[in-house]
Amino acid sequence: MAVAVMCKKTVSPGRKMIKELDCKLQAITFDADKLAVYVGDEFEAQPRAIPKNADVSYTWEIADDGVLGVKKGRIVAKKSGKTILGIASGNISAQVKVIVKYKPLPPDSTLPPLYYDKLMIANYKNTLSAKYVPEHLIKIPDNYTAEGYYGLYATQEAFEAYKEMYIAMYNEIKGRMHIISAYRSYARQSELYNKAVQNLMAQGKTSTEARSLALNTTQTPGNSEHQLGNTIDVSNDNTTDHNYLETPEGKWLAENCYKYGFIIRYPENKSDITRIDYEPWHIRYVGVNHATYMYVNDLCLEQYVELQEEAQEEADDYALKNPATPD
Ligand SMILES: [Zn+2]
Repeated sequence: MAVAVMCKKTVSPGRKMIKELDCKLQAITFDADKLAVYVGDEFEAQPRAIPKNADVSYTWEIADDGVLGVKKGRIVAKKSGKTILGIASGNISAQVKVIVKYKPLPPDSTLPPLYYDKLMIANYKNTLSAKYVPEHLIKIPDNYTAEGYYGLYATQEAFEAYKEMYIAMYNEIKGRMHIISAYRSYARQSELYNKAVQNLMAQGKTSTEARSLALNTTQTPGNSEHQLGNTIDVSNDNTTDHNYLETPEGKWLAENCYKYGFIIRYPENKSDITRIDYEPWHIRYVGVNHATYMYVNDLCLEQYVELQEEAQEEADDYALKNPATPD
């Protein structure tokens, strides 16, 4: 893809007349054949024109691999990877290899190493857009759901991990685990919340009381992670309650789900932070690395996301003193 003219070299008209013959561009070069930058950095290197005083008008060319992008007329590194950056002026061109890396954390850092892979979060203060629908939703086969809970959907990634976890659980304890809820659209969450409010009002609560009380059992639309498609409620029969942890399946899940990339999203000792009562049956897929870090360090998602932000700052500072190298 061709990019707009990024830089222009001109010489004064008087000088141009004298030097006209010398000013014809013969080649473009870069000081190095490889350059390294960090994700988020603007591309700083400028090419050299030969002869130096050549009258040139450059056009950059970036590959369609998503590694580099253009922001406000500048080339920026968007994701880690290796790519080729081209530059042309008329029919003269040059290329440079660009290596893009995530900013490293200092070697003694204890913050999440995968800080740059920011996890989505929905809670009382982070609301998902009504339009948000996850990609790659698949229908969960009925043999994985509880009786009467058919036609459920989840992201493919979350369901593949769930299957693997289910098999491991079955092999280890011969337990029973069924899915009773997974993806919920914004509209479905609205229905559930409104129904809960109406039920409470039918019991004599005022609208304000009912809206507040409903939050004990259900989330307002946009504030439930079921909308992300990577959140699953499980059961060993057809119900969920706080005693789930006391069952062999619930115990196994609490101790092992991180190995398959899941977290117990609302742990017992974190309800002051999550503002959701303990839900030992409600799991969220985040991937093995994130889940393991959270499990080992006893963190809920709210705390983890905050540490990811801290790590970003730490990496930004560290990168100032440690520029990227093309090794
Ligand atoms: Zn749930």
